[in-house]
Amino acid sequence: MLRIALAGNPNSGKTTLFNALTGSTAHVGNWPGVTVDKREGVCKKGSVPMAVVDLPGIYSLSPYTPEEMIARNFLLEEKPDCVINIADATNLERNLYLTTQLLEMDVPVVVALNMTDVLQKRGDKADAEKLSAALGVPVVCISALKEEGIRDLVQAAYKAAQTKRAGTSVLAQSPLAHLIDDITIALRGKGVAHPLFHAVKLAEGDEPEVKAHPQEMQTVEAFKKKCADGFEGDYEALIADARYGYITQHFSAAVSRSERSEKLSASDKADRILTHRVWGIPIFLVILFALFHLTFAEDLFYLNAIFKIGFDVETGNSVLDSFVAVFFSSAGVAAPGVILFNLMGFVCTLAGNGIASGVSAAGAADWAQGLVNDGIWAGVSGVLSFIPQILFLFLLLSILEDSGYMARVAFILDRAFRKFGLSGRAFIPMIMGFGCSVPAAINTRTLADEKERIMTNRVIPFFTCGAKAPILAAVCGAIAAQYAGINADLLVFALYLFGMAMAVLTVAIMRQTTMKGEVAPFIMELPSYHLPQLRSLMVHLWDKLKHYIKKAFTVIVASSVVIWFLSNFSWNWQMTEIQNSILHDIGAFVQWLCTPMGFGSQLGKFGWVFVVAAVTGLIAKENVISTFYVLAPAIGALIPGWDDGESGIGPVVALMQATGITWQALIAFTVFNMLTIPCFAAAATVRGETPKGKFRYTLAFWMLTSYLTATAVYLVLTWWWTVFILLLLAALFAAYVALRNRAKSCPCGR
Ligand code: GDP
Repeated sequence: MLRIALAGNPNSGKTTLFNALTGSTAHVGNWPGVTVDKREGVCKKGSVPMAVVDLPGIYSLSPYTPEEMIARNFLLEEKPDCVINIADATNLERNLYLTTQLLEMDVPVVVALNMTDVLQKRGDKADAEKLSAALGVPVVCISALKEEGIRDLVQAAYKAAQTKRAGTSVLAQSPLAHLIDDITIALRGKGVAHPLFHAVKLAEGDEPEVKAHPQEMQTVEAFKKKCADGFEGDYEALIADARYGYITQHFSAAVSRSERSEKLSASDKADRILTHRVWGIPIFLVILFALFHLTFAEDLFYLNAIFKIGFDVETGNSVLDSFVAVFFSSAGVAAPGVILFNLMGFVCTLAGNGIASGVSAAGAADWAQGLVNDGIWAGVSGVLSFIPQILFLFLLLSILEDSGYMARVAFILDRAFRKFGLSGRAFIPMIMGFGCSVPAAINTRTLADEKERIMTNRVIPFFTCGAKAPILAAVCGAIAAQYAGINADLLVFALYLFGMAMAVLTVAIMRQTTMKGEVAPFIMELPSYHLPQLRSLMVHLWDKLKHYIKKAFTVIVASSVVIWFLSNFSWNWQMTEIQNSILHDIGAFVQWLCTPMGFGSQLGKFGWVFVVAAVTGLIAKENVISTFYVLAPAIGALIPGWDDGESGIGPVVALMQATGITWQALIAFTVFNMLTIPCFAAAATVRGETPKGKFRYTLAFWMLTSYLTATAVYLVLTWWWTVFILLLLAALFAAYVALRNRAKSCPCGR
């Protein structure tokens, strides 16, 4: 039976076409050794049945991803009788990039121009004959979705499969034509199949090819030396440029755009601004800030900041007053996120009072009342009270994601940070890290390069996740409440940015030291912008909410009980005051370790709570907050006139006062929690996603990075001039690395 392979970009409609061709005969398996689906079936739409193999969706035949490797090996080794290259006609230039590579193989190719129904709707036209003449292979217009043109396609594929075809290259007119010709002839002389394809890949410096054909590689090297003045730099990029140049010049005209559709591409217009070379990043920062402002600002309209307008409402009715304070305060009009936070605090206080009177009415023993009120409820409500606010932040982030903007962010960041060794592909899982590190770490499977995968897994936790967000919200809120002139929203924004900057910086350092290597090229589909669907947003939020609630009533309850127990009992199992408790002794024993970060020995007698909170955060980051909320009442019991405000950020403010911690040390504390070992679940996932035996380095990386960075942050914020010392140290380190790298790359070996 003739065998046809289907090749095309992701989202070009390959699956739809495959289903249209094979109907119910398809079956799905795996490609050997990888978890990529392999679909095979029989097409009975032509005069004879033909076997159809669906190759993974790919943008190119460079072996950077497992998908590309599979497709390439299949085409080269399994010799299908014909390749149907499906190309999305609405995105022709990008799709033809793969076509130009397929054409270099010695295999009959038929191009299926898909989505022609969309073209028709727009009033655009695809000229199959023109494109066929330019490419030198048959082109058939189809709509896989509407099953139009399928019979013609099958017929064309059947006809092509009866013929032989020698590869052709669009590079024949590029400056590299000579080189490619020479290598092709040499390879053909040796009887290598697909000589042109291999020749081009050799010129690109493609790794598997270089290994497979060392002799021909000498020709390439000699050529490169000879032309050293003519061509600068990267041959791979040069060839990619030549392909795109040719496509634009010769093939693009095959689809003619109507005036209507020229006007239609509002998406393109938006991209001109949003992905602008210079303005792209500043615009991203402004958008991000707007998100944090809407979520965390006490003074939404800057009324207080600019006009000194505040809203102190006193009606004499305390419940009414605290309800009004949900919306307005002396700081101004609250942002929606803050209103949600206040409302939840309001509800939690009422519920807490209800629970307290219920337990006492039931005649529970003192210890049991303490356990329920100050242990379980304090810990759980501490976390619960932040959930609506953090969900609101997620809603805004999901809107950005669903609208198609986040894909642009990966693109913008790729452009800015590629030279530092980061690729846009790696930014995608990192940005996912804003939600939760666990799925983000799993997503790194799409990264082909092992080093890139390891580095990305290491820095994903630096993108502040939903569980760390309450720490930032609580700490920044408490600092803002204590110090006039500091805005919580600006502070949270700065900390989020700081986490991202640390990710970029540490990857750049790893690229220069332990993880040297090339950055894989990044080709990505930019979906058009569209209005996010309410349903899909709600699904996102519901998932998150479920996750939070589940955690609050499992891990957080359990940890709160343990913390309450340890902070209320002494070593001889008697109930006691907190300063005689087991937890006090453990905390005080290790507290000195945190001295460089500002929350160690220099703090007053309750200063150990911070190290305890950081340690409980290793189980789940929400624990940092629940630990604060469990310990606050116990500490409060020892301080006359203590008012922890019961809910909201009250307990954190009270802890600040009780311990005498400075705002600088609190920021360092937050930075430490942001960068240190993430929660159990995330750490275990990262362990699973990185090569065996390497995880201990990742653990060491997290511990060292968080400790050193938090120390640096504390030093600089407390004594600004220490920044010069740190810069000097950084410069010395950079010089050392640069010298070492140069010594290593010196060909004379010295
Ligand atoms: P794959 O990733 O290449 O397998 O692409 P799919 O077959 O999953 O198609 C991607 C999207 O394009 C799906 O939403 C399809 O319904 C849609 N699609 C595929 N072919 C056509 C077509 O000919 N016309 C239109 N309008 N949509 C199509």
